[in-house]
Amino acid sequence: MPAYAVLGAQWGDEGKGKIVDFLARDANIVARFAGGNNAGHTVVNDQGTFGFHLIPCGVLWPQTLNLIGNGVVVDPDILLQEIDELRERGIDIADRIILSERAHLIMPWHVRLDELAEISRGERAIGTTGKGIGPAYSDKAARTGVRAADLLDIEALLPRLDDILEYNNAVITKVFDGEAIDRDEVFEKCRQWGERLARYIGPVEKIANQALAAGQHVLLEGAQGVLLDLDHGTYPFVTSSNPTIGGASVGMGISPTHLTGITGVFKAYSTRVGSGPLPSELMDETGETIRNLAQEFGTTTGRPRRVGWFDAVAAKYSALINGYTSAVLTRLDVLDGFESVKICTGYVTDDGEEIPDFPGGVAALEKCRPVYEVVPGWDEPTASVRRLEDLPAEARAYVDRIQELIDCPIDVISTGPHRDETILVRALIDA
Ligand code: GDP
Repeated sequence: MPAYAVLGAQWGDEGKGKIVDFLARDANIVARFAGGNNAGHTVVNDQGTFGFHLIPCGVLWPQTLNLIGNGVVVDPDILLQEIDELRERGIDIADRIILSERAHLIMPWHVRLDELAEISRGERAIGTTGKGIGPAYSDKAARTGVRAADLLDIEALLPRLDDILEYNNAVITKVFDGEAIDRDEVFEKCRQWGERLARYIGPVEKIANQALAAGQHVLLEGAQGVLLDLDHGTYPFVTSSNPTIGGASVGMGISPTHLTGITGVFKAYSTRVGSGPLPSELMDETGETIRNLAQEFGTTTGRPRRVGWFDAVAAKYSALINGYTSAVLTRLDVLDGFESVKICTGYVTDDGEEIPDFPGGVAALEKCRPVYEVVPGWDEPTASVRRLEDLPAEARAYVDRIQELIDCPIDVISTGPHRDETILVRALIDA
């Protein structure tokens, strides 16, 4: 029953795309289970550089079947664009991608509402990517969503579209003073999407479960990060789905008993896009240096990412709620050349009160100041190192200390964006 999950263990952008591409060598199925095209996963290998938003990052391995689960919200235009782009680059995935019939679609009113709502929040903006993800999940919960299966019978969809649009257009025009969405244009779009996507839509959970029953390896690809989880993240500065391990089971329709491995991907430092607390944030020159060195600008939005030291308090919480069986540490090379490196090992308030655990309330988290442990930096570069024994001693000590703090073995260390710039300490997937 070999399902392996790869989760972003911090606030997203940990380098999951690279790690999934690296691990997919040993996978039969790679499956996305949450989020939408607010995710931007970058993969660099001998075939080139790829930016994936919806299609699983295992697609570059020809033996993989790639599933988009019911937990994902899908903008059909973006999915079709990704399929076309891959084909133009000589990677034909026509028979290797299946979209769950139960996946909800991002419709034109979702995008419009997302933009209008964020603008109206002004200074209290939550930092949404404006791609309609939140409103699509809201409609899902409100039972007014449109799903991939609906594209297979659009005549049946038409009367529902009328009802859904009546409500959403009232909100767009009367609450936000925006421009209404035209029903006929939407219907025509649905017709075209249905024509092109019909061949890809299928019973993803059945396929995943059959593969698991046959002993095949299923790699579950997370999006965003667990500290952005709708339930467990820094609410309300969170995403609208569950990037935590429970989301993998719900978002793919497989039992949690299939999970053999749960891997948390941690970056060697912290980053966060948009608003919300980041206790170890560096507002100084060091932060600016890391941001520029690491090119910490969003793949999807281009926004500069906020940067901080590794936060072991947040990381422990991440490990607690997901039960990682292993961890991956990425971007170690970014810290090359620093005289010393800091790890946030605790929080304290301005009144001197020690906060032992990651607080559940955002106001309490905003009051947390980092307590740092300072460890020596390293002169020799870790960039492109492929064997553990070739790491500088101080870099290895840094990895060991993080491993100790999160109480989970670090089985893969990433030392550069390329698939081959990777140290495999222990195999994550049984061959
Ligand atoms: P994801 O959404 O978690 O897949 O992360 P992103 O793709 O948004 O951001 C990760 C970025 O870091 C991408 O540009 C990757 O190519 C790059 N990357 C991944 N691992 C490493 C690494 O170990 N070192 C360096 N320097 N870059 C890395």
